Amino acid sequence: MIIKELNGLKDGSNVQNLFGWVDNVRDHGGLTFIDLRDFDSTIQLVFDKESSINVGVKNEYYIKVSGVFSKRDEGLVNNKTAYGQYEILINSLDIVNESKTLPFQIEDNIDTDESIRLKYRYLDLRRNEMKNNIVARSKTFKSIRNIMNKLEILEIDTPTLIKSTPEGAKDFLVPSRKSPGSFYALPQSPQMYKQLFMMSGFPNYYQIAKCYRDEDSRKDRQPEFTQLDIEFSNANPELVKHNIEIIVKHIFKEAFDIKITTPFNSITYEDSMSLYGTDKPDLRIKETLSDITDIFLNTDIKFIKDTINNSGKVLSLHTKNTLSRKNIDLLDESIKLLGSNGLGWFKIDNNEISGPLAKFLNDKEKSELGLFGDGLIVFQAGNLLEIAKYMDHLRREIFINNSDEVINFTWVEDFPYFEIENGILQPSHHPFTAPKSPDDFEKNPKNSKALHYDLVLNGVELGSGSQRINNPRLQKLVLEKWGLTEIDIDQRFGWFIEALSYGTPQHAGFAIGIDRLVAEILKQPSIRDVIPFPKTQSGMDPLTDAPSEINEDDLIEYNLRYVDNE
Ligand code: ASP
Repeated sequence: MIIKELNGLKDGSNVQNLFGWVDNVRDHGGLTFIDLRDFDSTIQLVFDKESSINVGVKNEYYIKVSGVFSKRDEGLVNNKTAYGQYEILINSLDIVNESKTLPFQIEDNIDTDESIRLKYRYLDLRRNEMKNNIVARSKTFKSIRNIMNKLEILEIDTPTLIKSTPEGAKDFLVPSRKSPGSFYALPQSPQMYKQLFMMSGFPNYYQIAKCYRDEDSRKDRQPEFTQLDIEFSNANPELVKHNIEIIVKHIFKEAFDIKITTPFNSITYEDSMSLYGTDKPDLRIKETLSDITDIFLNTDIKFIKDTINNSGKVLSLHTKNTLSRKNIDLLDESIKLLGSNGLGWFKIDNNEISGPLAKFLNDKEKSELGLFGDGLIVFQAGNLLEIAKYMDHLRREIFINNSDEVINFTWVEDFPYFEIENGILQPSHHPFTAPKSPDDFEKNPKNSKALHYDLVLNGVELGSGSQRINNPRLQKLVLEKWGLTEIDIDQRFGWFIEALSYGTPQHAGFAIGIDRLVAEILKQPSIRDVIPFPKTQSGMDPLTDAPSEINEDDLIEYNLRYVDNE
C-alpha cells in the first residue's frame, strides 16, 4: 500500500502493509512518533512505549507498518500536510532495510556542498525540492510528446556513435576497439541526421535528443544535455517559428499551467546588440544602453581618450534611482570578475555631477551628461564587443528587480553568418545554415547574414534554428568560405554533400534546450538542479567518479597509450 491510497479511508479503518522511509522519529514521553514518507506523501505513525513494538529505527530506514487509521485530536492537527488530520496507531513495524548515517538531511534548503549532493545524488533526489524538479522535467517530456503527436510530427531516433557534427564545440571521442586507432564522435546535435531524414522524404521529425559538447567549463553548461530537436520538410523560418510557438505554448500550459501569449516579438541581431549589448536580451527590462562616445570626443580622461583613439566606444546606462555606494562597489566587483577593468560612474543630482572622475570633466561633458537627469550613469569604455558584455551584465543586475513581467519570449534574427570566436572564424550557428542571400555570401561572406533564428526566454538562449542549405554547391561554398581545405571538406563532409545531391527538398528546423527551459520556468539557480545526474562544472561525475583512467589491458585492446605531455 502506498500512502496516497489512504485517501478516503474512514477513521478507525485498518491499514495493512504501508511502506515508506522514516522521515524523522520523535520521542515524547510515553509516545513515539514517526513521520513516514513515500514518493508523494507523509503520515504520522504513533505508538506507545509499552507496546511490544521494538522501534529501533532511524532516519531513512525503509519500513513496513500496519495499524489503525485515526483522526488526530483537535489541536494536534497539522494542516501543512495532506494527512495532517490523521495518524496511524501502529500495531506492527518491520524494518525492510536499514540506512547508514546520512551525509546530509533529506529536507529542503540544505547548504550542503554541491559535490557531496552529487556524490549521493540518489539521496539528494529524495529531497522534495529536487524530486519536484525531476517530476517537472518528466511532465515536460510528456507534454512534448502530447503536442508532437497532436501535430503529427514523427518521433525518430538517430545514432550516437557518429563521425562528427560541428556545432562550435569540441567532440567527445569514443575509441573503436574493432578499428584500432579510429574514433567515433558523440553527436554535438543530431543536425546532419535530421537533415538526412528530410532528404529521405520524411515530412518532419522530432527527437528528445542527448547532445554532447566538450566545451570549456562555462557557467551553467553541461557536457551532456537534452534538447527537443525538430525538423520540417518544405519549410521556411516562418513555418518553423510558428510551430515552435505552438509547441512552447502547449508545454507551458500542460506541464506548468502557465499561459503565455503568442506570437512572440522579434528583434534583429544588430538592434539587440546596440540596444542591449547582447544577442540574448532580457526584455523584461525596458531600459536600453546609450552610446555616449561622442560626448567624450575632447576628453581629458585619459583611459577614455585612449579608448576613442583606438576606435573604442563608451556605453552607458542611466538609472533614476541612484544606488548606494555599497551597491556600486558590488557592481564594480561583479564586472571585474567578467574581465572589466572596473565600473565607471557619475552621480547626477540637480545638474551637479559627482563621482571619482567628475573632477576631470569639462563643461561640455558636464552639460551633456546632465541631460540624462538626476540619478546614476554607469559606463564602460573599450572595445565594443568586449564592453557590450559588461553592459549587458550591468543592465540585468541594476534593473531586473524593477520588472514585474515574469515570462518574456523574443526571437532574435538576422545574425551575421560568421563571427570571430577566440580569434577563429566560426559560423554563428552551424555551417548547414542557409545564407540569407547566396549571392552576397559568395561576394562577401564575412559581412553576410544567415537565415538563423534564436529563441530567447528572459535573457536565456532557449533554442536555435535555421533554414538549411539544400544545394550541394552552396554547401561546399560555405565550407570553403569557413576556411576548410578541399581535402577536409571531402573527408569530413563529402558524404553529406553527396547526400544533398539527389533532389533535396527545402527544409528548416529548430532545437530547444530542455534543461534550460525547465530550469528557467522553475527559477532554479542552475541547469544542474533539473538534470537527474549532472556533471560538475569541471565535467566530473562525483557519484561514479567518471571520467576515469582505464587499465593497461583495455589500453592494449583499444590500441591506446598514455603519453607524458610534460
Ligand atoms: N542543431 C542546432 C543546435 O543544436 C539546432 C538546429 O539548427 O536545428 O543548436
